[in-house]
Amino acid sequence: MTKPQNYINGKWVDGSLGKLDMLNPSYDTKAGEIARSGEKDIDSAVKAAREAFNGVWGKTDAANRGRMLYKVAKILEENVEELAELESKDTGKPMKQARTDATLIARYFEFYAGAADKFHGDTIPFSDDYTVYSQRVPLGVTGHIIPWNYPLQMTGRTLAPALAAGNATVFKPAEDACLAVVRAFELIHEAGFPPGAINLVTGLGTEAGGALANHPGIDHMAFTGSPEVGKIIMKNSADHIRPVLLELGGKSPQVVFKDADLDAAMPVIVNAIIQNAGQTCSAGSRLVIQEDIHDEVVEGLIKRFNKIKVGPADKDPDIGPIINKKQLERVESFVARAEKEGATILAQAEKPEGKGYFFPPTLMGKVNNDSFIAQNEVFGPVLTVIPFKDEADAIRIANDVEFGLIAAVWTKDNGRAHRVTNAINAGQVYVNGYGAGGGVELPFGGMKKSGFGREKGFEALYDVTAVKTIIINHG
Ligand code: NAP
Ligand code: MG
Repeated sequence: MTKPQNYINGKWVDGSLGKLDMLNPSYDTKAGEIARSGEKDIDSAVKAAREAFNGVWGKTDAANRGRMLYKVAKILEENVEELAELESKDTGKPMKQARTDATLIARYFEFYAGAADKFHGDTIPFSDDYTVYSQRVPLGVTGHIIPWNYPLQMTGRTLAPALAAGNATVFKPAEDACLAVVRAFELIHEAGFPPGAINLVTGLGTEAGGALANHPGIDHMAFTGSPEVGKIIMKNSADHIRPVLLELGGKSPQVVFKDADLDAAMPVIVNAIIQNAGQTCSAGSRLVIQEDIHDEVVEGLIKRFNKIKVGPADKDPDIGPIINKKQLERVESFVARAEKEGATILAQAEKPEGKGYFFPPTLMGKVNNDSFIAQNEVFGPVLTVIPFKDEADAIRIANDVEFGLIAAVWTKDNGRAHRVTNAINAGQVYVNGYGAGGGVELPFGGMKKSGFGREKGFEALYDVTAVKTIIINHG
């Protein structure tokens, strides 16, 4: 069992509002407990972070920050199986996926361990009388709020770059899934960070989340989640005049031209929507397909959708349950509305027995790109098929949505691949592949209403630092 406590100033402490039960969505049973926290806990965490930033942690040089992050990476790596079991039980993701996620949190710490002492400013040519250089300095205390869909991965994604750059951090994971994150913090403690450099406060969004987003002692807020809460976070940040990073999901197109290698494309297209039961901000949820190959592709996809195995996460099926009842009902309502608006269900996998919150992967045809299901994030395993005539039509449809997170283009024509990737308005564009967010090294983030700011890769370090320019007049 993990500690139902917060990690503040290097110590495990009870939440001021008691405890919350965690749910195992595969069986509708209790998965564990976490601390329920509010303003008081957030305030202690922010104070501890400020002291760390002004004290030992703030004076830890880049090479030593890197060494500490590397220690974290090694400790997490040694405990992948335990972390994966907790993540799988808590989120309902199959063990195979949970193992990948547990490996990736370690990889984030490893990547930013290496980056810590290689991120630097420039010397700037100005005038013979001056020497000018810039430094990349940490912002101070950074706040981090993540959702429930990839708790372990997102912990590494948001915290490791902030720490590598020298910030002190206060982190609130989602109430719906964070048991593995609490365990990861128990392990992180072993790496020996100075107290206060890295703080964990669990609880409800409206209590702990709101208190963090509103706290005047935060210098940067990083948020991943829904556009609705993203707006609140941005307004709070406006009140305090501080930068904010928002990652708010997408409605990502997979554009398939008639010359594409369909044997290669088909399994990737399916995986891009069923991974994590479709609860992925970068899920490939709109299949934008050239009408000449529409029937052939749909036929192939129907066969594949019918074979997808849905079940409890510990049985390692192709996909597990939806995170909870509220989300399941949301997915069901999206599909019902699409049917009402004229779309048809072309294929649906079998729904297993049991008390889990299962939604079978569903392929929907006759979908108009203007319709509700094509324009809004379902956050479930629902793929909509939208036909196009030619290249211009494909680009128009791909961009005709409020989001712009990621996209894929499938074609063997090199010129077309370049033209279409240049024309698509998204933070990441794949050619002949799809990587729901891709690797740790690849800058990731939104355009349009998908948000702004970049995570992953070296790019993430720019978001959590400021440039300081030093201008020396030596006459
Ligand atoms: P959400 O409400 O935006 O939750 C995201 C995070 O924000 C959680 O940690 C949540 O805490 C916290 N939060 C909620 N209200 C807050 C507030 N007033 N102030 C500060 N923090 C707050 O998302 P959700 O309800 O989990 O999911 C709803 C929909 O959002 C999904 O169906 C999906 O469309 C979208 N979504 C997108 C992503 C993505 O990766 N971009 C991820 C998840 C969901 P608690 O959960 O602990 O209350
Ligand atoms: Mg849970």
